[in-house]
Amino acid sequence: MSGNGKRGDILVIGGGISGITAAIEAAEAGANVTLVEKEPFLGGRVARMNLYFPKMCPPSCGIEINIRRVKTNPQIRTLTLATVEKISGGPGAYKATIRKDPRYVNAKCTTCGECVEFCDVERPDSFNLGMGTTKAIYMPYEMAYPARYVIDPAVGDPKETCAKAAEACPYGAIDLAMEAEIEEAEFDAVIWATGWAPPDATQFEGLGFGDYANVVNNVTMERLSALNGPTAGKIQRPSDCEAPRSIAFVQCAGSRDENYFKHCSGVCCMASLKQARYVRDQNPEAQIYIFYIDIRAPGRLEDFFTAVKEDEKLSLIKGKVANITEDSATGKLTVEAEDILSGQRVAQEVDMVVLATGMIPQGIGDTKVEGGVELDEHGFLAINQPQGYLAAGCAKRPVDVATCNRDATGVALKALHLGAE
Ligand SMILES: Cc1cc2nc3c(=O)[nH]c(=O)nc-3n(C[C@H](O)[C@H](O)[C@H](O)COP(=O)(O)OP(=O)(O)OC[C@H]3O[C@@H](n4cnc5c(N)ncnc54)[C@H](O)[C@@H]3O)c2cc1C
Repeated sequence: MSGNGKRGDILVIGGGISGITAAIEAAEAGANVTLVEKEPFLGGRVARMNLYFPKMCPPSCGIEINIRRVKTNPQIRTLTLATVEKISGGPGAYKATIRKDPRYVNAKCTTCGECVEFCDVERPDSFNLGMGTTKAIYMPYEMAYPARYVIDPAVGDPKETCAKAAEACPYGAIDLAMEAEIEEAEFDAVIWATGWAPPDATQFEGLGFGDYANVVNNVTMERLSALNGPTAGKIQRPSDCEAPRSIAFVQCAGSRDENYFKHCSGVCCMASLKQARYVRDQNPEAQIYIFYIDIRAPGRLEDFFTAVKEDEKLSLIKGKVANITEDSATGKLTVEAEDILSGQRVAQEVDMVVLATGMIPQGIGDTKVEGGVELDEHGFLAINQPQGYLAAGCAKRPVDVATCNRDATGVALKALHLGAE
């Protein structure tokens, strides 16, 4: 830093692990950071994971430490339920219009939960990917930050769905008169950390997602395995709630495929190996089949792959899955592929299938950007941007959490340079 030591004002869009890391690193180096997250809580996709490969530790540890750093740093202003409507300008002089949607619950909330029984309206539990429901007034998940309930206006006018809950709240924390607020602000640097989402797997022909109850995707598998998930961590077949005795993981489901998404998401092989561990830890008799094109386990992740593949109940079949069919009487599935190492056609019957679907970029959402942003051929933000915008983590390319952390730290440094005087 030079001159008077000003570190600048930085806007970070997206409060997943990449955005949180960029915000913390920039703020701890002296910048004023506004962190804008569209959901009612920080953490992004990793908040929904069961365990992290390769250490098999719960993401909640890392999230908790980082949230504490966010909470205790007066130079980070966190806006949840917020989006950026438009941005103009360039490095050192961006202007942003930020929209903050109402939460209908103020800072007096103690998360006691007494309001919930006074609300009769249900909504799909978005944290659990639609598995189960919550009331219209809900806590996104037990460790959510801000630690505060929120009302979902998508299932009805809060003045109707939560009037009784507002009366019942002993702290006067429910404010049904809250309205959206618009704020104009200026920034020296803007970091996009908008991350990824799973693709809609119903589009993948022949793989049975949406048609067969026992075909799930890998993000669902994370929730099915998590203690705070819809089954309290018991991995079970959706059709009959029985523990599966055999599971097939279908790698590159819709990825590295000219018909759907050409890019490799880089983490799906490791995610399936990790999820195979979840299954085997719960049921030592369960048989696992992983159908793959090639296993991508770069660097130190090779050790994790080597350890998991030692498992005698795990079969690796090198071949892209062509078709999945269901026996409607039993819910069992038959996975068809050509094993290219043996040249044999494989038709493997299993209790359950997990599609390893990849990460689809979220780009800039609905934000109107003067001068535009540059996307690469897959829709991720390109590294060099015409208006000097910065991007971190999976907004830029699909990567694991450790890489997001390193990337976001480097990007924070670039942002500090733009703000320095
Ligand atoms: C099945 C599966 C398992 C995985 N398991 C592991 C693992 O075990 N270990 C590991 O290291 N990695 C794992 N990963 C990868 C990991 O999920 C990513 O590295 C990580 O989520 C990237 O974080 P991010 O902050 O870049 O993006 P995200 O987690 O997607 O966060 C982006 C945030 O931005 C917000 N946002 C998006 N658009 C806007 C907008 N327009 N305005 C405001 N906010 C916005 C989103 O709501 C979200 O909170 C796994 C991936 C998959 C698919």
